[in-house]
Amino acid sequence: MALIVHKYGGTSMGSPERIRNVAKRVAKWARAGHQMVVVPSAMSGETNRLLGLAKEVSPAQVTDAVQRELDMLASTGEQVSVGLLSLALQAEGMEAVSYAGWQVPIHTNSAYTKARIESIDDKKVRADLAAGKVVVITGFQGVDEGGNITTLGRGGSDTSAVAVAAAMKAAECLIYTDVDGVYTTDPRVVPEARRLHTVSFEEMLEMASMGSKVLQIRSVEFAGKYKVPMRVLSSFTPWDIAIEEEAKSGTLITFEEDEQMEQAIVSGIAFNRDEAKISVLGVPDKPGIAYSILGAVGAANIEVDMIIQNVSKDGRTDFSFTVNRNDHARAMDLLKTQVLPALGANSVEGDAKICKVSIVGIGMRSHVGIASKMFGALSAEGINIQMISTSEIKTSVVIDEKYMELAVRALHKAFDLDQAAA
Ligand code: ADP
Ligand code: ASP
Ligand code: MG
Repeated sequence: MALIVHKYGGTSMGSPERIRNVAKRVAKWARAGHQMVVVPSAMSGETNRLLGLAKEVSPAQVTDAVQRELDMLASTGEQVSVGLLSLALQAEGMEAVSYAGWQVPIHTNSAYTKARIESIDDKKVRADLAAGKVVVITGFQGVDEGGNITTLGRGGSDTSAVAVAAAMKAAECLIYTDVDGVYTTDPRVVPEARRLHTVSFEEMLEMASMGSKVLQIRSVEFAGKYKVPMRVLSSFTPWDIAIEEEAKSGTLITFEEDEQMEQAIVSGIAFNRDEAKISVLGVPDKPGIAYSILGAVGAANIEVDMIIQNVSKDGRTDFSFTVNRNDHARAMDLLKTQVLPALGANSVEGDAKICKVSIVGIGMRSHVGIASKMFGALSAEGINIQMISTSEIKTSVVIDEKYMELAVRALHKAFDLDQAAA
C-alpha cells in the first residue's frame, strides 16, 4: 500500500464517458489498498474556450488587473473537472472529495498566468486520506498571499500533480495522457517516433524546456528537486488491466544513469513555435550595448532566449535575440520607442515566423561532432540556420517556421531514432 498521485490531462477528461473511465481506474488503485490523490486538468478544449471568451469581451492588454481576471476565469475549467470526477468516483462506490487549489491551499506567488507554487498545506488532504477518501485536487491553479486565484501557465496541471506528490511524499506520480509515454519526438509529427522506456531527468528537462509539451517544464523541475518518481503513461488502456502491468507501462523519468538505460547519443528531438526573433540593426559597437538592449527588455518582464551579436563592421553591429511570441509586439514597441533612439541604432526588425528545433541527449557530453552532424542533415535539406545555441546535452537551431516538420523528420532519421523495422 502506498500513497500515489494520478494526473489526468484534458483529453483523458474529455467527456463524461472518459471521466467515468478515469473514476474506474482510480477506484481500481484505491481498492488495491493505495491512498489516492487525483489531479485532473480541464476537459479538453475548455481552457482555450474560456480564454477565447475573454478575448471577445476585452482587448488584448497585459495589465496585472487583466491577468488577475484571466486566472479567475481559466481556473474554472479545472473546478468543473474535479466536481465531475468526484461525482463519478462516488458513483463507483468510493468516498471522494474535491478541492480547488485555494481550498487545499496550494500557495503560489502572485505572477498571474504563470504563477509558481511556493508551498502546499497537506493537512486537509492527509486527514481525508486517513479517513479512506480519494482526494481530487484541481490542476493548474493556486492562491496567492492576498487570496487571489492564480494559474501556473499552460500545461500547468502536470506541475500541480508533481508538487502535490512532493508535498505528500507520494511513492509515485503517474501522469496519464493521450500518448503511451515520452517518445523520441512528438509522434503526431513523426509517426516513426519510438517510445522511450526510460528518460533521464536531465534529458526530460531539456526536452520540456525546448518545447516538448508532453510535460510542463516546471513539473520536471519539481520532480528533480524533490526526487519524485514520475512516469508518463496512457489513460487509453482498458481501465481494468492489472495494476502490476499498468505500473510498468509508459516512460519512467530516471534520476541516475543506470546500466540498462538506452544509451543513445541523441535521445530526442524537440521543437517549438512559440518564439519570435528580433534584430536590432546598426547598433554602435561599444561596451554596454547588450545591457542597454536586454536590460530594457528584462525590465519590462520579457524573457529572452537565444542571443546573437554579429561581428562589427565600420563600428556598427547587429544584435538579434528571441522572445516568446506573446511578448513580441510589446518588445518591438519598447525597442522602437525607447531603446532605438537612446542607442542610435539604425532599425529594429521582427520575425515571428521562426521555430526552434533541438536535439537532446546525455550522450552528447562524451561524443564530438554531434552538432555538425545536425547542421549537415539540415543543409542536406536546404534548410538555412538563423541562430544556434548549445548546452552540454543539447543543440538548438532557429530556422524558418515552414521547414519545421521537414527538419524534425530529417534529424530523426539522421540520428537513427526511427522505429526499428519489425
Ligand atoms: P495532456 O492534456 O494529457 O496534458 P498534452 O497535450 O499536454 O496532454 O501532452 C501530450 C501530447 O504531447 C501528445 O499528444 C503529443 O502530441 C505531444 N508530444 C510532444 N512531444 C512529445 C514527445 N516527445 N513524446 C510524447 N508526446 C509528445
Ligand atoms: N487546463 C490547462 C491548460 O489547458 C492546464 C493543463 O491542461 O495542464 O493549459
Ligand atoms: Mg499537458
